[in-house]
Amino acid sequence: MIQPVVLIHYHELGLKGKNRRDFERQLIRNIQKTLAQSGLEGHVNRTSGRILVAVSTFEAALSAADALVQLPGVARVSCGERLPKDMAAINESALRALQRAEPFTSFKVDARRANTQFPLDSMAINREVGSYLSARLPHKNVQMRAPDAKARVEIIKNDAFVYASSRQGIGGLPVGCSGHLICLLSSGLDSPVAAWQMMRRGAQVTGLHFSGAPETADHSSALVREIARRLAPTGGPGRLFFVRFGGYQRAIALTVPESLRVVFYRRLMLATAEALAAREHARALVTGESLGQVASQTLDNIVATDAAVSLPVFRPLIGTDKQAIIKQAQALGTFALSTQPVDDCCTLFMPRNPETHANLAEVERIWSEMPIDAWIREILAELRSETL
Ligand code: ATP
Ligand code: MG
Repeated sequence: MIQPVVLIHYHELGLKGKNRRDFERQLIRNIQKTLAQSGLEGHVNRTSGRILVAVSTFEAALSAADALVQLPGVARVSCGERLPKDMAAINESALRALQRAEPFTSFKVDARRANTQFPLDSMAINREVGSYLSARLPHKNVQMRAPDAKARVEIIKNDAFVYASSRQGIGGLPVGCSGHLICLLSSGLDSPVAAWQMMRRGAQVTGLHFSGAPETADHSSALVREIARRLAPTGGPGRLFFVRFGGYQRAIALTVPESLRVVFYRRLMLATAEALAAREHARALVTGESLGQVASQTLDNIVATDAAVSLPVFRPLIGTDKQAIIKQAQALGTFALSTQPVDDCCTLFMPRNPETHANLAEVERIWSEMPIDAWIREILAELRSETL
């Protein structure tokens, strides 16, 4: 029987024993969820070192591949056919695969035999399928180096898989393998990219956004919601929390030296995130900070901000250039949203000359005299949440 399939390849490197089983189980769950969310049907199961989605038509395989290619943990997605490991059937399937790969002028056959019981080795399969195809595709050239199209044949256990359509995935680990994080998510460029990087490492990410409301309009919350939707194909953030932060910024602006305001805004954001993490069973925090990018991200200011919390704060972009962050945001589809001008808490009560070398002892002394615990209790009590 010829069965249209999506073949999902993942990196097995470094995955052993229980880790590997957990990885595969989580990836299968995420694939099933993604297919269901995209309104696609497919039977998902595992075959040595691959995950297989059986679908009804080749077109359905292409649609499923579109949905699955952005999932963390997926190294490559291929669309083709599963068939009995019989050379006549393999030849015909390879011809169909190449015909679907039009337009192309050069091709080659690339066979891999995982089952050594199969009588032909990969070189022999290449030769046989190659000569079958050459006879039927007289206007195409066989080319070993960088051909336009590749007919791939994989012999795995009792099946043969044949495909010419194959796309690279993002790799990494399936979301859900690496625990739960709270990401401070603004409507800017950096934090969505930071969240995506942690999801690619298998973390489940919950977003926490601070808007300037009630001192400003609440446009940034709507943008953050849109940005989170853009990240949905990667597997999250599944939940968002929103804080109306303007009033606290006003209170900080009235209490602390003007040049230190931003450090205090950031400290209160981190402290709130830590309290939320305790409530939501998250184990670490994420920000989009990049060393030296703006005044609040100098080393001294990061040290003075970090000291407000005891949970680990992950800053996946700390050593990344703005250009690379922009490129990533464009690839994720968040760039246009993140560059929309909005009134948010970042533009509210900003100092004229922000301190770039905050003194930790001074910051801690002022902080200790502020009603931080009461504020955090109040913020948590008024937190709005949304499930995407
Ligand atoms: P981004 O583009 O991620 O907003 P940025 O270059 O604007 O970063 P900052 O505004 O200094 O830099 O913010 C540093 C980090 O603090 C952000 O990456 C984000 O993690 C967090 N942060 C800043 N503003 C907010 C906010 N309004 N809500 C949630 N997190 C925020
Ligand atoms: Mg910002």
